[in-house]
Amino acid sequence: MLFQELVRALAVVEATTQRTAVVRALATLLRNAEVGEVDKVVYFVLGDLKPPWVGLELGVAEKLCLRALSKASGISLSELENWYKRLGDVGEVARRALASRRGGLVASRQKPLEVTEVYDTLVKVARATGGGAQDLKISLLTSLFARATPEEGKYIARFVVGKLRLGVADMTLVDALSEAFGVDREAVERAYHLHPDMGKIARHVAEGRPLGEIKITVGVPILPMLAQRLSTASEILSKLGGSAICEYKYDGERAQIHLSGGSVKIFSRRLEDITHSYPDVVKAVREAVSAGEAILEGEIVAVDVDTGEMLSFQELMHRKRKHDVSTAVEMYPAELYLFDLLYVDGEDLTREPLIYRRVRLSEVVEEREGVHIAHWRLFDNPEEVDLFFHEATSLGTEGLICKSPLSTYEMGARGWNWIKYKVDYRSEMVDTVDLVVVGAFYGRGKRTGVYGAFLMAAYDPTGDMFYTVCKVGSGFAEADLKKLYDMLQPYRIPQRHPRVSSKLEADVWFTPGVVLEVVGAEITLSPLHTCCLGSVKPGVGLAVRFPRFTGRYRLDKSPEQATTVGEMLDMYKRQRKVQL
Ligand code: AMP
Repeated sequence: MLFQELVRALAVVEATTQRTAVVRALATLLRNAEVGEVDKVVYFVLGDLKPPWVGLELGVAEKLCLRALSKASGISLSELENWYKRLGDVGEVARRALASRRGGLVASRQKPLEVTEVYDTLVKVARATGGGAQDLKISLLTSLFARATPEEGKYIARFVVGKLRLGVADMTLVDALSEAFGVDREAVERAYHLHPDMGKIARHVAEGRPLGEIKITVGVPILPMLAQRLSTASEILSKLGGSAICEYKYDGERAQIHLSGGSVKIFSRRLEDITHSYPDVVKAVREAVSAGEAILEGEIVAVDVDTGEMLSFQELMHRKRKHDVSTAVEMYPAELYLFDLLYVDGEDLTREPLIYRRVRLSEVVEEREGVHIAHWRLFDNPEEVDLFFHEATSLGTEGLICKSPLSTYEMGARGWNWIKYKVDYRSEMVDTVDLVVVGAFYGRGKRTGVYGAFLMAAYDPTGDMFYTVCKVGSGFAEADLKKLYDMLQPYRIPQRHPRVSSKLEADVWFTPGVVLEVVGAEITLSPLHTCCLGSVKPGVGLAVRFPRFTGRYRLDKSPEQATTVGEMLDMYKRQRKVQL
Protein backbone atom coordinates (compact mmCIF):
# COMPACT_ATOMS: atom_id res chain seq x y z
CA MET A 1 0.00 0.00 0.00
CA LEU A 2 1.26 3.44 -0.82
CA PHE A 3 1.88 5.58 2.22
CA GLN A 4 -0.20 8.35 0.68
CA GLU A 5 -3.29 6.14 0.96
CA LEU A 6 -2.73 5.81 4.70
CA VAL A 7 -2.13 9.55 4.96
CA ARG A 8 -5.37 10.31 3.14
CA ALA A 9 -7.27 8.20 5.67
CA LEU A 10 -5.51 9.92 8.58
CA ALA A 11 -6.57 13.28 7.17
CA VAL A 12 -10.21 12.11 7.07
CA VAL A 13 -9.97 10.85 10.65
CA GLU A 14 -8.51 14.17 11.75
CA ALA A 15 -11.12 16.29 10.03
CA THR A 16 -14.28 14.50 11.08
CA THR A 17 -16.39 15.01 14.19
CA GLN A 18 -18.33 11.75 13.72
CA ARG A 19 -17.10 8.54 15.34
CA THR A 20 -18.92 6.44 12.74
CA ALA A 21 -17.07 8.26 9.96
CA VAL A 22 -13.77 7.52 11.71
CA VAL A 23 -14.64 3.81 11.94
CA ARG A 24 -15.70 3.74 8.27
CA ALA A 25 -12.49 5.42 7.08
CA LEU A 26 -10.35 3.02 9.13
CA ALA A 27 -12.32 -0.02 7.93
CA THR A 28 -11.77 0.95 4.29
CA LEU A 29 -8.10 1.52 4.96
CA LEU A 30 -7.69 -1.91 6.58
CA ARG A 31 -9.56 -3.62 3.76
CA ASN A 32 -7.33 -2.03 1.16
CA ALA A 33 -4.07 -2.97 2.87
CA GLU A 34 -2.14 -6.12 1.95
CA VAL A 35 -2.35 -8.84 4.61
CA GLY A 36 1.30 -8.32 5.54
CA GLU A 37 0.77 -4.58 6.04
CA VAL A 38 -2.34 -4.57 8.19
CA ASP A 39 -0.43 -4.62 11.48
CA LYS A 40 1.81 -1.75 10.38
CA VAL A 41 -1.20 0.32 9.34
CA VAL A 42 -2.76 -0.31 12.76
CA TYR A 43 0.39 0.68 14.65
CA PHE A 44 0.70 3.82 12.60
CA VAL A 45 -2.89 4.84 13.30
CA LEU A 46 -2.40 4.21 17.04
CA GLY A 47 0.75 6.34 17.02
CA ASP A 48 3.12 3.66 18.36
CA LEU A 49 5.44 1.28 16.55
CA LYS A 50 4.64 -1.59 18.90
CA PRO A 51 2.20 -2.35 21.75
CA PRO A 52 2.98 -0.52 25.02
CA TRP A 53 4.84 -3.30 26.82
CA VAL A 54 7.47 -3.68 24.10
CA GLY A 55 8.64 -0.18 24.99
CA LEU A 56 10.07 0.59 21.56
CA GLU A 57 10.41 4.37 21.66
CA LEU A 58 11.46 6.46 18.70
CA GLY A 59 13.55 8.78 20.87
CA VAL A 60 13.23 11.65 18.42
CA ALA A 61 13.02 15.15 19.87
CA GLU A 62 11.61 18.08 17.87
CA LYS A 63 15.09 19.46 17.29
CA LEU A 64 16.34 16.24 15.73
CA CYS A 65 13.29 16.04 13.50
CA LEU A 66 13.85 19.64 12.37
CA ARG A 67 17.46 18.85 11.52
CA ALA A 68 16.38 16.00 9.26
CA LEU A 69 13.77 18.27 7.69
CA SER A 70 16.38 20.93 7.08
CA LYS A 71 18.60 18.43 5.25
CA ALA A 72 15.74 17.12 3.17
CA SER A 73 14.31 20.51 2.25
CA GLY A 74 17.42 22.69 2.00
CA ILE A 75 15.85 25.22 4.38
CA SER A 76 18.15 26.28 7.21
CA LEU A 77 17.65 24.85 10.68
CA SER A 78 17.29 28.29 12.26
CA GLU A 79 14.55 29.19 9.81
CA LEU A 80 12.68 25.94 10.57
CA GLU A 81 13.10 26.60 14.29
CA ASN A 82 11.45 29.98 13.85
CA TRP A 83 8.57 28.38 12.01
CA TYR A 84 8.24 25.86 14.79
CA LYS A 85 8.15 28.60 17.45
CA ARG A 86 5.39 30.31 15.53
CA LEU A 87 3.35 27.24 14.53
CA GLY A 88 3.94 24.98 17.55
CA ASP A 89 3.44 21.83 15.47
CA VAL A 90 6.30 19.93 13.81
CA GLY A 91 3.80 18.40 11.41
CA GLU A 92 2.84 21.79 10.02
CA VAL A 93 6.51 22.82 9.82
CA ALA A 94 7.26 19.63 7.86
CA ARG A 95 4.36 20.21 5.49
CA ARG A 96 5.43 23.76 4.74
CA ALA A 97 9.13 22.90 4.52
CA LEU A 98 8.56 20.10 2.03
CA ALA A 99 6.17 22.24 -0.01
CA SER A 100 8.83 24.91 -0.44
CA ARG A 101 11.97 22.82 -0.83
CA ARG A 102 15.09 24.65 -1.84
CA GLY A 103 17.31 21.86 -3.03
CA GLY A 104 18.29 19.54 -0.22
CA LEU A 105 17.80 15.90 -1.19
CA VAL A 106 14.96 16.77 -3.51
CA ALA A 107 16.50 14.93 -6.46
CA SER A 108 15.88 11.54 -4.92
CA ARG A 109 12.14 12.10 -4.68
CA GLN A 110 10.93 9.87 -7.45
CA LYS A 111 9.46 6.64 -6.13
CA PRO A 112 6.44 7.13 -3.84
CA LEU A 113 6.78 5.81 -0.29
CA GLU A 114 5.24 2.48 0.68
CA VAL A 115 3.68 1.87 4.11
CA THR A 116 6.06 -1.01 4.89
CA GLU A 117 9.08 1.03 3.93
CA VAL A 118 8.09 3.91 6.19
CA TYR A 119 7.31 1.57 9.08
CA ASP A 120 10.54 -0.43 8.73
CA THR A 121 12.62 2.73 8.54
CA LEU A 122 10.97 4.10 11.67
CA VAL A 123 11.71 0.85 13.50
CA LYS A 124 15.37 1.32 12.52
CA VAL A 125 15.22 4.87 13.86
CA ALA A 126 13.85 3.54 17.16
CA ARG A 127 16.45 0.77 17.41
CA ALA A 128 19.40 3.09 16.78
CA THR A 129 21.17 3.40 20.14
CA GLY A 130 24.64 4.10 21.47
CA GLY A 131 27.38 6.08 19.76
CA GLY A 132 26.43 7.50 16.39
CA ALA A 133 22.73 6.87 17.05
CA GLN A 134 21.79 10.53 16.57
CA ASP A 135 23.46 10.73 13.18
CA LEU A 136 21.89 7.47 12.08
CA LYS A 137 18.43 8.63 13.18
CA ILE A 138 18.88 11.89 11.28
CA SER A 139 20.02 10.21 8.11
CA LEU A 140 17.18 7.66 8.19
CA LEU A 141 14.62 10.40 8.73
CA THR A 142 16.18 12.57 6.04
CA SER A 143 15.83 9.72 3.57
CA LEU A 144 12.11 9.49 4.38
CA PHE A 145 11.45 13.24 4.23
CA ALA A 146 13.36 13.52 0.97
CA ARG A 147 10.87 11.23 -0.70
CA ALA A 148 7.75 12.35 1.18
CA THR A 149 5.05 14.62 -0.18
CA PRO A 150 4.32 17.60 2.10
CA GLU A 151 1.21 15.89 3.48
CA GLU A 152 3.13 12.64 4.14
CA GLY A 153 5.91 14.62 5.80
CA LYS A 154 3.39 16.20 8.15
CA TYR A 155 2.25 12.83 9.54
CA ILE A 156 5.74 11.30 9.62
CA ALA A 157 7.01 14.29 11.62
CA ARG A 158 4.14 14.12 14.10
CA PHE A 159 4.54 10.38 14.45
CA VAL A 160 8.27 10.46 15.15
CA VAL A 161 8.02 13.10 17.86
CA GLY A 162 5.15 11.14 19.46
CA LYS A 163 2.46 13.67 18.67
CA LEU A 164 0.28 11.97 16.11
CA ARG A 165 -2.54 11.87 18.66
CA LEU A 166 -5.50 11.19 16.43
CA GLY A 167 -7.43 10.08 19.49
CA VAL A 168 -8.18 6.71 17.90
CA ALA A 169 -8.53 4.23 20.75
CA ASP A 170 -8.17 0.49 20.55
CA MET A 171 -11.95 0.12 20.78
CA THR A 172 -12.37 2.27 17.67
CA LEU A 173 -10.07 -0.16 15.88
CA VAL A 174 -12.03 -3.15 17.21
CA ASP A 175 -15.08 -1.69 15.48
CA ALA A 176 -13.13 -0.91 12.32
CA LEU A 177 -11.64 -4.42 12.17
CA SER A 178 -14.97 -6.13 12.59
CA GLU A 179 -16.49 -3.90 9.90
CA ALA A 180 -13.55 -4.37 7.50
CA PHE A 181 -13.37 -8.16 7.66
CA GLY A 182 -16.95 -9.04 8.67
CA VAL A 183 -15.88 -10.75 11.90
CA ASP A 184 -17.88 -10.77 15.11
CA ARG A 185 -17.08 -7.63 17.13
CA GLU A 186 -17.29 -9.50 20.43
CA ALA A 187 -14.79 -12.10 19.22
CA VAL A 188 -12.34 -9.35 18.24
CA GLU A 189 -12.81 -7.68 21.59
CA ARG A 190 -12.28 -10.92 23.50
CA ALA A 191 -9.09 -11.70 21.60
CA TYR A 192 -7.90 -8.15 22.26
CA HIS A 193 -8.56 -8.53 26.00
CA LEU A 194 -6.44 -11.68 26.11
CA HIS A 195 -3.68 -10.30 23.95
CA PRO A 196 -3.98 -6.49 23.70
CA ASP A 197 -1.72 -6.11 20.68
CA MET A 198 -4.04 -4.55 18.12
CA GLY A 199 -1.56 -4.95 15.26
CA LYS A 200 -1.24 -8.66 15.89
CA ILE A 201 -5.01 -9.15 16.19
CA ALA A 202 -5.57 -7.23 12.95
CA ARG A 203 -3.02 -9.36 11.11
CA HIS A 204 -4.62 -12.52 12.50
CA VAL A 205 -8.07 -11.45 11.28
CA ALA A 206 -6.73 -10.35 7.89
CA GLU A 207 -5.08 -13.74 7.44
CA GLY A 208 -8.52 -15.30 7.95
CA ARG A 209 -7.40 -17.28 11.00
CA PRO A 210 -9.91 -18.05 13.79
CA LEU A 211 -9.70 -15.66 16.72
CA GLY A 212 -10.14 -18.59 19.11
CA GLU A 213 -6.47 -19.41 18.44
CA ILE A 214 -5.41 -16.39 20.46
CA LYS A 215 -4.65 -17.55 24.00
CA ILE A 216 -3.23 -16.18 27.22
CA THR A 217 0.55 -15.87 26.81
CA VAL A 218 3.02 -15.46 29.64
CA GLY A 219 4.97 -12.28 28.85
CA VAL A 220 2.01 -10.53 27.20
CA PRO A 221 -0.14 -8.58 29.68
CA ILE A 222 -3.87 -9.21 29.62
CA LEU A 223 -6.30 -6.32 29.94
CA PRO A 224 -6.98 -5.82 33.67
CA MET A 225 -10.42 -6.22 35.24
CA LEU A 226 -11.82 -3.00 36.72
CA ALA A 227 -14.21 -2.19 39.55
CA GLN A 228 -17.52 -0.38 39.87
CA ARG A 229 -18.36 1.60 42.99
CA LEU A 230 -21.16 1.76 45.57
CA SER A 231 -21.40 3.57 48.88
CA THR A 232 -23.04 1.24 51.39
CA ALA A 233 -22.18 -2.25 52.51
CA SER A 234 -25.76 -3.48 52.22
CA GLU A 235 -26.06 -2.33 48.61
CA ILE A 236 -22.76 -3.98 47.81
CA LEU A 237 -23.78 -7.28 49.37
CA SER A 238 -27.13 -7.36 47.64
CA LYS A 239 -25.55 -6.48 44.30
CA LEU A 240 -23.09 -9.35 44.78
CA GLY A 241 -25.83 -11.85 45.61
CA GLY A 242 -25.65 -11.81 49.41
CA SER A 243 -22.00 -12.57 50.11
CA ALA A 244 -18.69 -11.08 49.09
CA ILE A 245 -14.98 -11.61 49.29
CA CYS A 246 -13.89 -8.25 50.72
CA GLU A 247 -10.26 -7.29 50.26
CA TYR A 248 -8.30 -4.28 51.43
CA LYS A 249 -8.00 -1.69 48.68
CA TYR A 250 -4.29 -0.92 48.72
CA ASP A 251 -3.28 2.51 47.46
CA GLY A 252 -0.34 2.00 45.19
CA GLU A 253 0.40 0.88 41.66
CA ARG A 254 -1.41 -2.04 40.10
CA ALA A 255 0.96 -4.75 38.94
CA GLN A 256 0.37 -7.71 36.65
CA ILE A 257 3.23 -10.07 37.26
CA HIS A 258 4.35 -12.65 34.71
CA LEU A 259 6.72 -15.33 35.89
CA SER A 260 8.41 -17.77 33.56
CA GLY A 261 11.26 -19.90 34.80
CA GLY A 262 13.35 -17.49 36.81
CA SER A 263 12.33 -14.48 34.80
CA VAL A 264 9.80 -11.96 36.12
CA LYS A 265 8.07 -9.15 34.28
CA ILE A 266 5.79 -6.55 35.80
CA PHE A 267 3.18 -4.71 33.74
CA SER A 268 1.24 -1.60 34.70
CA ARG A 269 -2.48 -1.05 34.39
CA ARG A 270 -1.72 0.71 31.10
CA LEU A 271 0.17 -2.39 29.91
CA GLU A 272 3.62 -0.83 30.13
CA ASP A 273 6.57 -2.89 31.24
CA ILE A 274 7.51 -1.40 34.62
CA THR A 275 9.84 -4.20 35.72
CA HIS A 276 12.91 -1.93 35.85
CA SER A 277 11.36 0.25 38.61
CA TYR A 278 10.89 -2.68 40.98
CA PRO A 279 13.99 -4.91 41.21
CA ASP A 280 13.16 -5.59 44.87
CA VAL A 281 9.67 -6.85 43.98
CA VAL A 282 11.10 -9.01 41.18
CA LYS A 283 13.51 -10.65 43.59
CA ALA A 284 10.86 -11.21 46.27
CA VAL A 285 8.40 -12.72 43.75
CA ARG A 286 11.04 -15.11 42.45
CA GLU A 287 11.54 -16.39 45.98
CA ALA A 288 7.90 -16.43 47.05
CA VAL A 289 6.15 -18.06 44.08
CA SER A 290 6.50 -21.80 43.62
CA ALA A 291 5.43 -22.27 40.01
CA GLY A 292 7.25 -22.59 36.72
CA GLU A 293 4.94 -20.19 34.96
CA ALA A 294 2.35 -17.89 36.48
CA ILE A 295 0.42 -14.68 35.95
CA LEU A 296 -0.45 -12.91 39.19
CA GLU A 297 -2.04 -9.60 40.05
CA GLY A 298 -1.42 -7.32 42.96
CA GLU A 299 -0.78 -3.81 44.16
CA ILE A 300 2.71 -2.46 44.87
CA VAL A 301 2.60 -0.16 47.88
CA ALA A 302 5.20 2.18 49.38
CA VAL A 303 5.99 1.39 53.01
CA ASP A 304 7.71 3.15 55.84
CA VAL A 305 10.43 0.69 56.88
CA ASP A 306 10.69 2.21 60.34
CA THR A 307 7.05 1.81 61.24
CA GLY A 308 5.92 -0.81 58.70
CA GLU A 309 3.04 1.52 57.79
CA MET A 310 1.68 1.71 54.31
CA LEU A 311 2.26 5.02 52.59
CA SER A 312 0.23 6.77 49.92
CA PHE A 313 0.36 6.38 46.16
CA GLN A 314 2.19 9.73 45.96
CA GLU A 315 5.14 8.29 47.93
CA LEU A 316 5.47 5.42 45.49
CA MET A 317 5.49 7.83 42.57
CA HIS A 318 8.69 9.44 43.96
CA ARG A 319 10.32 6.19 43.18
CA LYS A 320 9.42 6.41 39.50
CA ARG A 321 10.89 9.85 39.14
CA LYS A 322 14.32 8.79 40.35
CA HIS A 323 16.74 7.83 37.61
CA ASP A 324 18.97 5.84 39.86
CA VAL A 325 16.84 2.78 40.61
CA SER A 326 19.02 1.35 43.37
CA THR A 327 18.92 4.60 45.36
CA ALA A 328 15.16 4.82 44.80
CA VAL A 329 14.69 1.25 46.06
CA GLU A 330 16.49 2.22 49.26
CA MET A 331 14.76 5.56 49.72
CA TYR A 332 11.24 4.38 48.93
CA PRO A 333 10.85 0.73 49.89
CA ALA A 334 7.82 -1.05 48.46
CA GLU A 335 5.88 -4.23 49.07
CA LEU A 336 3.57 -6.32 46.96
CA TYR A 337 0.05 -7.35 47.97
CA LEU A 338 -1.23 -10.10 45.67
CA PHE A 339 -4.96 -10.43 45.04
CA ASP A 340 -5.35 -12.74 42.03
CA LEU A 341 -3.88 -15.68 40.16
CA LEU A 342 -4.85 -15.77 36.47
CA TYR A 343 -2.66 -18.47 35.04
CA VAL A 344 -0.43 -21.17 36.43
CA ASP A 345 1.65 -23.85 34.67
CA GLY A 346 -0.49 -24.22 31.56
CA GLU A 347 -3.83 -23.65 33.31
CA ASP A 348 -5.86 -20.58 32.33
CA LEU A 349 -7.69 -19.68 35.57
CA THR A 350 -9.53 -16.62 34.23
CA ARG A 351 -12.70 -18.65 33.75
CA GLU A 352 -12.53 -20.18 37.23
CA PRO A 353 -14.44 -18.63 40.16
CA LEU A 354 -12.58 -16.11 42.31
CA ILE A 355 -12.83 -18.25 45.43
CA TYR A 356 -10.95 -21.02 43.62
CA ARG A 357 -8.34 -18.60 42.26
CA ARG A 358 -7.83 -17.30 45.79
CA VAL A 359 -7.21 -20.84 47.11
CA ARG A 360 -4.73 -21.54 44.30
CA LEU A 361 -3.03 -18.19 44.97
CA SER A 362 -2.31 -19.14 48.56
CA GLU A 363 -1.00 -22.52 47.40
CA VAL A 364 1.59 -21.07 45.03
CA VAL A 365 2.65 -18.07 47.13
CA GLU A 366 4.60 -18.34 50.33
CA GLU A 367 4.36 -14.95 52.04
CA ARG A 368 7.61 -13.34 53.10
CA GLU A 369 9.17 -9.91 53.43
CA GLY A 370 8.08 -7.88 50.43
CA VAL A 371 5.36 -10.26 49.20
CA HIS A 372 2.00 -10.66 50.89
CA ILE A 373 -1.43 -11.89 49.99
CA ALA A 374 -4.01 -9.09 50.06
CA HIS A 375 -5.91 -9.26 53.34
CA TRP A 376 -9.43 -10.62 52.76
CA ARG A 377 -12.51 -12.09 54.42
CA LEU A 378 -15.78 -13.56 53.21
CA PHE A 379 -18.85 -11.73 54.55
CA ASP A 380 -22.63 -11.94 54.28
CA ASN A 381 -23.45 -9.33 56.89
CA PRO A 382 -23.23 -5.58 56.15
CA GLU A 383 -22.27 -4.59 59.73
CA GLU A 384 -19.28 -6.86 59.57
CA VAL A 385 -18.30 -5.43 56.19
CA ASP A 386 -18.43 -1.95 57.73
CA LEU A 387 -16.17 -2.95 60.60
CA PHE A 388 -13.71 -4.47 58.14
CA PHE A 389 -13.91 -1.28 56.07
CA HIS A 390 -13.01 0.90 59.07
CA GLU A 391 -10.18 -1.45 59.94
CA ALA A 392 -8.89 -1.20 56.36
CA THR A 393 -8.97 2.60 56.18
CA SER A 394 -7.41 2.99 59.61
CA LEU A 395 -4.43 1.03 58.30
CA GLY A 396 -3.84 3.46 55.47
CA THR A 397 -5.69 1.70 52.67
CA GLU A 398 -8.40 3.35 50.60
CA GLY A 399 -11.16 1.02 51.80
CA LEU A 400 -12.30 -2.27 50.33
CA ILE A 401 -12.79 -3.97 47.02
CA CYS A 402 -15.69 -6.37 47.38
CA LYS A 403 -15.81 -9.20 44.89
CA SER A 404 -18.32 -11.81 43.91
CA PRO A 405 -16.91 -15.15 45.14
CA LEU A 406 -18.12 -17.03 42.08
CA SER A 407 -17.14 -14.47 39.46
CA THR A 408 -14.70 -15.18 36.65
CA TYR A 409 -11.96 -12.71 35.74
CA GLU A 410 -13.58 -10.24 33.32
CA MET A 411 -10.71 -8.81 31.32
CA GLY A 412 -10.93 -5.15 30.44
CA ALA A 413 -14.39 -4.83 31.94
CA ARG A 414 -15.72 -2.54 34.66
CA GLY A 415 -18.48 -4.91 35.71
CA TRP A 416 -20.47 -5.36 38.91
CA ASN A 417 -18.45 -8.34 40.13
CA TRP A 418 -15.83 -6.08 41.69
CA ILE A 419 -17.19 -3.15 43.69
CA LYS A 420 -15.13 -0.42 45.35
CA TYR A 421 -16.18 0.66 48.82
CA LYS A 422 -14.22 3.85 49.38
CA VAL A 423 -15.31 6.82 51.42
CA ASP A 424 -18.81 7.81 52.35
CA TYR A 425 -20.20 10.44 50.02
CA ARG A 426 -23.73 10.32 51.33
CA SER A 427 -23.91 13.89 52.58
CA GLU A 428 -21.50 15.51 50.18
CA MET A 429 -19.11 14.59 47.43
CA VAL A 430 -16.10 13.73 49.59
CA ASP A 431 -14.97 11.23 47.02
CA THR A 432 -12.98 12.29 44.03
CA VAL A 433 -13.56 11.62 40.35
CA ASP A 434 -10.98 11.18 37.62
CA LEU A 435 -11.93 13.30 34.61
CA VAL A 436 -10.47 13.83 31.17
CA VAL A 437 -9.44 17.26 29.87
CA VAL A 438 -11.27 17.75 26.55
CA GLY A 439 -11.10 21.54 26.19
CA ALA A 440 -9.83 24.74 27.82
CA PHE A 441 -10.65 28.40 28.24
CA TYR A 442 -8.06 31.14 28.01
CA GLY A 443 -7.09 32.74 31.31
CA ARG A 444 -7.36 36.42 32.16
CA GLY A 445 -5.52 38.69 34.60
CA LYS A 446 -2.90 36.69 36.42
CA ARG A 447 -3.71 33.74 34.22
CA THR A 448 -3.04 35.50 30.91
CA GLY A 449 -0.91 33.34 28.68
CA VAL A 450 -2.07 30.05 30.19
CA TYR A 451 -5.47 28.37 30.39
CA GLY A 452 -7.74 29.68 33.14
CA ALA A 453 -10.19 26.78 33.22
CA PHE A 454 -10.62 23.33 31.74
CA LEU A 455 -13.57 21.48 30.29
CA MET A 456 -13.67 18.04 31.91
CA ALA A 457 -15.45 14.88 30.81
CA ALA A 458 -16.41 11.42 32.04
CA TYR A 459 -16.08 8.32 29.85
CA ASP A 460 -18.90 6.23 28.41
CA PRO A 461 -17.53 2.76 27.62
CA THR A 462 -20.73 1.71 25.81
CA GLY A 463 -20.47 4.33 23.10
CA ASP A 464 -16.70 4.95 23.52
CA MET A 465 -17.41 8.67 24.01
CA PHE A 466 -16.55 11.43 26.49
CA TYR A 467 -19.33 13.56 28.04
CA THR A 468 -18.67 16.84 29.82
CA VAL A 469 -19.40 17.23 33.55
CA CYS A 470 -17.77 20.50 34.58
CA LYS A 471 -15.57 23.43 33.85
CA VAL A 472 -12.87 23.50 36.51
CA GLY A 473 -10.72 26.53 37.37
CA SER A 474 -10.02 26.14 41.10
CA GLY A 475 -7.40 24.21 42.95
CA PHE A 476 -4.61 25.00 40.47
CA ALA A 477 -1.39 26.55 41.70
CA GLU A 478 0.40 28.87 39.26
CA ALA A 479 2.90 26.09 38.54
CA ASP A 480 0.06 23.67 37.76
CA LEU A 481 -1.37 26.04 35.16
CA LYS A 482 1.99 26.43 33.47
CA LYS A 483 2.62 22.69 33.59
CA LEU A 484 -0.84 21.90 32.19
CA TYR A 485 -0.47 24.45 29.44
CA ASP A 486 2.72 22.74 28.24
CA MET A 487 1.40 19.26 28.85
CA LEU A 488 -1.71 19.91 26.76
CA GLN A 489 -0.07 21.49 23.69
CA PRO A 490 0.53 18.19 21.92
CA TYR A 491 -3.14 17.29 22.32
CA ARG A 492 -4.44 20.52 20.78
CA ILE A 493 -6.77 20.07 17.81
CA PRO A 494 -8.64 22.66 15.73
CA GLN A 495 -12.14 21.44 16.52
CA ARG A 496 -14.02 19.33 19.06
CA HIS A 497 -12.81 15.74 19.02
CA PRO A 498 -15.34 13.31 17.46
CA ARG A 499 -15.40 11.25 20.66
CA VAL A 500 -16.33 14.27 22.77
CA SER A 501 -19.89 15.43 23.30
CA SER A 502 -20.23 18.98 24.61
CA LYS A 503 -22.79 21.76 24.71
CA LEU A 504 -20.18 24.29 25.78
CA GLU A 505 -17.85 25.86 23.21
CA ALA A 506 -14.30 25.74 24.56
CA ASP A 507 -11.67 28.24 23.37
CA VAL A 508 -9.33 25.34 22.68
CA TRP A 509 -10.10 21.65 22.09
CA PHE A 510 -7.97 18.63 22.91
CA THR A 511 -7.75 15.01 21.95
CA PRO A 512 -8.78 13.17 25.15
CA GLY A 513 -5.52 12.21 26.84
CA VAL A 514 -4.86 13.91 30.17
CA VAL A 515 -6.71 12.71 33.30
CA LEU A 516 -7.00 14.89 36.43
CA GLU A 517 -8.48 14.14 39.83
CA VAL A 518 -11.33 16.48 40.72
CA VAL A 519 -13.49 16.86 43.80
CA GLY A 520 -16.63 18.93 44.23
CA ALA A 521 -19.39 19.81 46.66
CA GLU A 522 -21.95 17.49 45.09
CA ILE A 523 -23.28 16.18 41.82
CA THR A 524 -26.10 18.29 40.45
CA LEU A 525 -28.41 18.41 37.48
CA SER A 526 -27.23 20.82 34.80
CA PRO A 527 -28.53 21.78 31.40
CA LEU A 528 -24.99 22.82 30.40
CA HIS A 529 -23.41 19.39 30.46
CA THR A 530 -23.88 16.26 28.39
CA CYS A 531 -23.03 13.56 30.95
CA CYS A 532 -26.09 11.31 31.37
CA LEU A 533 -28.16 13.80 29.38
CA GLY A 534 -31.84 13.01 29.81
CA SER A 535 -31.19 10.08 32.18
CA VAL A 536 -32.66 11.85 35.21
CA LYS A 537 -34.75 14.55 33.55
CA PRO A 538 -35.26 15.39 29.88
CA GLY A 539 -32.79 17.95 28.57
CA VAL A 540 -30.50 18.03 31.59
CA GLY A 541 -27.28 16.23 32.33
CA LEU A 542 -25.09 15.76 35.40
CA ALA A 543 -22.41 18.15 36.61
CA VAL A 544 -19.96 18.49 39.47
CA ARG A 545 -20.85 21.55 41.54
CA PHE A 546 -17.94 23.74 42.77
CA PRO A 547 -15.32 21.50 41.17
CA ARG A 548 -11.73 21.74 42.36
CA PHE A 549 -8.51 20.11 41.13
CA THR A 550 -7.08 18.02 43.99
CA GLY A 551 -3.49 18.45 42.77
CA ARG A 552 -3.32 14.86 41.63
CA TYR A 553 -2.43 14.23 37.97
CA ARG A 554 -3.72 10.77 37.10
CA LEU A 555 -1.01 10.05 34.54
CA ASP A 556 -1.33 6.39 35.42
CA LYS A 557 -4.83 6.35 33.94
CA SER A 558 -5.65 6.32 30.26
CA PRO A 559 -8.70 8.45 29.31
CA GLU A 560 -10.69 5.22 28.94
CA GLN A 561 -9.94 4.46 32.59
CA ALA A 562 -11.45 7.73 33.82
CA THR A 563 -14.63 7.86 35.90
CA THR A 564 -17.52 6.63 33.78
CA VAL A 565 -20.87 8.29 33.13
CA GLY A 566 -22.49 5.29 34.85
CA GLU A 567 -20.49 5.96 38.01
CA MET A 568 -21.54 9.62 37.89
CA LEU A 569 -25.19 8.60 37.69
CA ASP A 570 -24.80 6.20 40.61
CA MET A 571 -23.14 8.85 42.73
CA TYR A 572 -25.96 11.24 41.90
CA LYS A 573 -28.68 8.74 42.77
CA ARG A 574 -27.07 7.84 46.05
CA GLN A 575 -26.92 11.48 47.12
CA ARG A 576 -30.57 11.93 46.29
CA LYS A 577 -31.64 8.87 48.21
CA VAL A 578 -30.21 10.25 51.42
CA GLN A 579 -31.62 13.74 50.95
CA LEU A 580 -35.19 12.45 50.46
P1 AMP B 1 -9.55 2.91 41.26
O1 AMP B 1 -8.12 3.22 40.88
O2 AMP B 1 -10.08 3.81 42.31
O3 AMP B 1 -10.44 2.77 40.06
O4 AMP B 1 -9.56 1.45 41.98
C1 AMP B 1 -9.19 0.25 41.33
C2 AMP B 1 -7.74 -0.08 41.64
O5 AMP B 1 -7.57 -0.47 43.01
C3 AMP B 1 -7.20 -1.29 40.91
O6 AMP B 1 -6.84 -0.98 39.58
C4 AMP B 1 -6.00 -1.69 41.74
O7 AMP B 1 -4.87 -0.94 41.31
C5 AMP B 1 -6.35 -1.18 43.12
N1 AMP B 1 -6.50 -2.24 44.14
C6 AMP B 1 -6.02 -2.17 45.40
N2 AMP B 1 -6.33 -3.26 46.11
C7 AMP B 1 -7.01 -4.08 45.27
C8 AMP B 1 -7.62 -5.37 45.43
N3 AMP B 1 -7.58 -6.03 46.59
N4 AMP B 1 -8.26 -5.90 44.36
C9 AMP B 1 -8.32 -5.22 43.18
N5 AMP B 1 -7.77 -4.00 42.98
C10 AMP B 1 -7.12 -3.43 44.01
